[in-house]
Amino acid sequence: MKKLKINDKIIRLPAFFPDATHGAVKSVGSLDLIRENVSGIVVNTYHLLVDKNIETVKKLGGVHEFTKFPGIIITDSGGFQAMSLIRRSPGNGKITEDGVYFHINGNKILLSPELCIKTQLEAGSDIIMCLDDCTDPAEAHKEQKLSVERTVRWAKRCKDYFDRKTNFGRKTKNSKKKPLIFGIVQGGSSKKLRKECADGLIKIGFDGYAYGGWPVDGTGKFLSEIVKFTASVMPDDKPKYAMGVGKPQDIKECIRYGYNLFDCVLPTRDARHERLYVFSGRSYKFIYIGSGKYKKDNKPISGKCKCETCTSYSRAYLYNLFKNKDPLALRLATIHNLRFYTDLMKLFN
Ligand SMILES: [Zn+2]
Repeated sequence: MKKLKINDKIIRLPAFFPDATHGAVKSVGSLDLIRENVSGIVVNTYHLLVDKNIETVKKLGGVHEFTKFPGIIITDSGGFQAMSLIRRSPGNGKITEDGVYFHINGNKILLSPELCIKTQLEAGSDIIMCLDDCTDPAEAHKEQKLSVERTVRWAKRCKDYFDRKTNFGRKTKNSKKKPLIFGIVQGGSSKKLRKECADGLIKIGFDGYAYGGWPVDGTGKFLSEIVKFTASVMPDDKPKYAMGVGKPQDIKECIRYGYNLFDCVLPTRDARHERLYVFSGRSYKFIYIGSGKYKKDNKPISGKCKCETCTSYSRAYLYNLFKNKDPLALRLATIHNLRFYTDLMKLFN
């Protein structure tokens, strides 16, 4: 797939979407995202609920209107938080057939498949993700099997609820625009379970499919084989979304396997930690802008980059902003790293 069309929006694939967990990509505004050709962002359903923002967002016209970001908005389901906050710390809640009970910081929420889809519809998302029972690849086979079975059952409940709520009847000029809904393939490191999960989701029928679960092992090694296999059991005529895959070399590998959508916190988080991405030959390298050697360097971060930061400011200026803890440093560094990722995707468009 070279393009993805959702109602009146079309984007080129592959595409990288930065994470806007609480509705904002940290340190930058929507005008910055537009200027640096960022075609989409990923907002998190769990945080919309926990922050109690969803009512405000809904009242003010949805995430697009709230953030003034006109591109594609994916809302992640909260399944990943079930793993990171509950599977790893059972005191924070429990995962049952009804859904995920979060008991965190005085908040008690039952994130059911239905509430998950309801929240994403209210947010006005373009791509809605099914609630999945996300696992760590290190968990036992028995747990992975239970997670796959539950993920498929929840996906069916998500799809049924989605179909009921988006049945707008005959299309008219004013009829509501229907978002896409994606299923998430779980199964840990087991090919058999990944296939079983993908088959179950395909039978229900989704507009796209995603690789779910942590894509790296305990030592940080990218799980190439299972990520590749999972792409092979997804339909080729639908988008394939590698969730959480963000290192440029891993993205390149995934594009070879057929994935065409990516999201990750890396470019924005790295920017805030003074790590800036620049192309180097056929690969890339980091510029650690806080290093003293840039103190008087009048060159841009990258002479080839057309971002606002590189076309306006020197390495020395950015070095000084970081040294003085000026928040502008975070914005300018983030802008550059986001443009690096949009340029990286362009190599494959
Ligand atoms: Zn730049």
